[in-house]
Amino acid sequence: MRIIDLNKTREIGSQCIYLEAGSFKILLDCGMSPREEGFKALPNFALIDGKQIDIIIISHCHLDHIGALPFFMKNQQQARVLTSPGSHIIMPRILENSVTIMTMQREERGIKEYPFYSVNDIKELDQHILPMPHAKIRTLQKDGDEINITFFSAGHVIGASSVLIEYKHRTLFFSGDVLFRNQKTLRGALWPQKTVDVVITETTRGNHDRDKNFSYQSEIDRLVNGVKNTIEAGGSVLIPAFALGRMQEILKILHNAHIKKKLPGKVPIFCSGLGLGLVDDFDAANKKLRCVDFKSAILRELKVKSFRSAKFDKSRQPTQPSVFVLSSGMLVENTPSYITAANLVGDPKNSILFVGYCDPITPGGELLAQAKHTSFDFKALRFSSKVEAHIERFDLSGHADREDLLEYIFGLNPRTIIFTHGEEESRDWFFDSIIDQRPNIVTLDPEPGEPYDI
Ligand SMILES: [Zn+2]
Ligand SMILES: [Zn+2]
Repeated sequence: MRIIDLNKTREIGSQCIYLEAGSFKILLDCGMSPREEGFKALPNFALIDGKQIDIIIISHCHLDHIGALPFFMKNQQQARVLTSPGSHIIMPRILENSVTIMTMQREERGIKEYPFYSVNDIKELDQHILPMPHAKIRTLQKDGDEINITFFSAGHVIGASSVLIEYKHRTLFFSGDVLFRNQKTLRGALWPQKTVDVVITETTRGNHDRDKNFSYQSEIDRLVNGVKNTIEAGGSVLIPAFALGRMQEILKILHNAHIKKKLPGKVPIFCSGLGLGLVDDFDAANKKLRCVDFKSAILRELKVKSFRSAKFDKSRQPTQPSVFVLSSGMLVENTPSYITAANLVGDPKNSILFVGYCDPITPGGELLAQAKHTSFDFKALRFSSKVEAHIERFDLSGHADREDLLEYIFGLNPRTIIFTHGEEESRDWFFDSIIDQRPNIVTLDPEPGEPYDI
């Protein structure tokens, strides 16, 4: 087998790996980088120019894994797209939202190549999809050649999958984004119990130490207390959250706290559009698959209101203490969470509580690193504000701890481990740990764009 990492840099970017197994030409994910704009945000497709891709595997529906798919498919009509039934249900809404954002960015920032695809292209995509229920092997054929592919639950978000590829006695396992512990809305990953030759693993949390006293429940309790204390002191809370996964998990946590009367009653809760829309998909997925523990009734019981993403107005403040659960999770410019952060950050009564990964170069990452009482620049709004609000980070990540992940990988007994989807220092931790603990395993941190025989 041969791989080329089509990510342009060694970081969490546009996840996409080209894999050749005999005559089969395969892509592992087809993402768009949240850090970049325009053509720069795409994987390095030029490296596979002229190749006819047979199979595109989509591990899950975060944009860094799926955002470039309808664009790539325009010239790859022969390709079959393999994804789980859960991902299949939510895919159109995620991609259509991406069209809306790209269209807005074209107008606001003059990015001429946007949108990369249309709603029609997304509809078109549907006829190429082969749904892959978890733990069911599927054999695909091409010119007398045969390959077996099996999807396994990866936890993380609804539909997320890790993927086993078997070709002529060679086995490769791709982690996708993975979480082993149960969340409130979703069960943890269920990996196969077998030996594989090669593991391609995400490395997102490689730069995070595991706190000895950490437990998921204690982080949840801390978050609920943070919300309660702020509201009781007359302030408002912003929880920036990814629309897919984190937002529903946070709502479920708030709902549990509400039932147990751990939150003050009658606090208005606002959510942004995509996260609310996805709840309908969760209902649909539940009817068919019973794969996620979240029902739209939670929104009614919490009386969640839709956040109107109005233009920024620095004088606009919440009329009463409120909770805002808004995307993006990293305060990407001009998103509802970015605009609301600008409104709330100057008042010491308010809190901004981060619950997921924040890329250090995004406004969310910068705000977390910013010293209190200093001035923070909301560049896209041409607005500066002193950082007076309480800012805190909670470890409710949808990614496995590095120690857990490594233990599960060792359980597959691989001869080679290949790193992907993580910053340089995260990969370094995995590299050093593997050398220390299993020196016989070959590690590969592929140079973007270079071919490797594995
Ligand atoms: Zn993800
Ligand atoms: Zn990811």
